[in-house]
Amino acid sequence: SKVLVLVSVFIIGITGFAAAGGGGEKGEKKVTIGVSLPTQREDIWVKGKEAMEAEAKRLGVDVKIMLADANVAEQASQVENLLSQGIDVLILAPVDSDAVSTLVDKAKDDNVPVINFARLANNCDVDYYITFDNVMVGELQGEYLLNNIPDGSNIIVMSGAPTDNLAGLFKRGAMNKITPAANAGKVKIVAEQAVENWLPENAMKIVENALTQNRNNIQGILAPNDGTAGGAIQALDAQGLKGKVVVTGQDSEAAAVRRILAGEQSMTIFKDIRELAIASIQAANKYALKDTQGLEVSGTTNNGRMDVPTLFIPPTIITKDNAVDVLVRSSGYLKESDIR
Ligand code: BGC
Repeated sequence: SKVLVLVSVFIIGITGFAAAGGGGEKGEKKVTIGVSLPTQREDIWVKGKEAMEAEAKRLGVDVKIMLADANVAEQASQVENLLSQGIDVLILAPVDSDAVSTLVDKAKDDNVPVINFARLANNCDVDYYITFDNVMVGELQGEYLLNNIPDGSNIIVMSGAPTDNLAGLFKRGAMNKITPAANAGKVKIVAEQAVENWLPENAMKIVENALTQNRNNIQGILAPNDGTAGGAIQALDAQGLKGKVVVTGQDSEAAAVRRILAGEQSMTIFKDIRELAIASIQAANKYALKDTQGLEVSGTTNNGRMDVPTLFIPPTIITKDNAVDVLVRSSGYLKESDIR
């Protein structure tokens, strides 16, 4: 029966490959997908890149991935470079959602379809968008914060890079929960600031200043992602407050999960970027083969110029209670050795 299992795995493997039809057949030009990612600073983008490479390999398509190091000009020249190489499709996650619109227009002039990955490009013609339910991410953060601080608490509200269209959506979700509580006098927002470039050290400075101004009388911090949560916790640590203030996060980075298990960070969000990466490579292949029927769409997102057909993937809240179960055991997103 062992042999039987092996044979059927082999057959499934072959059918999977044939069904994919990603080119590679004799005489046909191989599909080439260009990808531009904004950064590799946060682990989530690293895992996204790896999953794209694996899926491209499985489908037998070529993928050229460029990494922009959070730099607008670098992303522009990388995308232009990709276009000049003659890619069939562009998968793009902008550094700056406004600044990329001319690049997207350029791709469209070259008849290259554009798929946005995680982050959206504003005011341009985007063919397809694959992302998480970003407002829900913020709502989960805001709700958790409110449910875990006493009435009358002082809180710091931070949001992500203003250049990233998602930062506004995360904040909107969080404020859907926080604003009513603030209006009812249950919490007081003592500082409210965006973290330029998503940089942890910028978050640290914001929290340092707020702690000084409020003589350390802070009970909760809305940190939009794990990187900024790390910066916030460093500032708390300097005042002997690590583990005594509720701090939110997002991404389920290994370092953040370690902090959660140690009681230093309160929660994070799990967004399985591997799912997003696989879906975007498969969609890109369909666009390249001009066979986009059956492409999954769960709604639209307006980018200022148009309603972009969008596939939304729901996020999961992670706390000390479910971190190991969800992130290690059931999804294999992290390894036991990453977090212990
Ligand atoms: C992503 C977050 C990430 C942040 C910084 C956002 O667009 O949604 O998961 O932490 O960028 O890279």
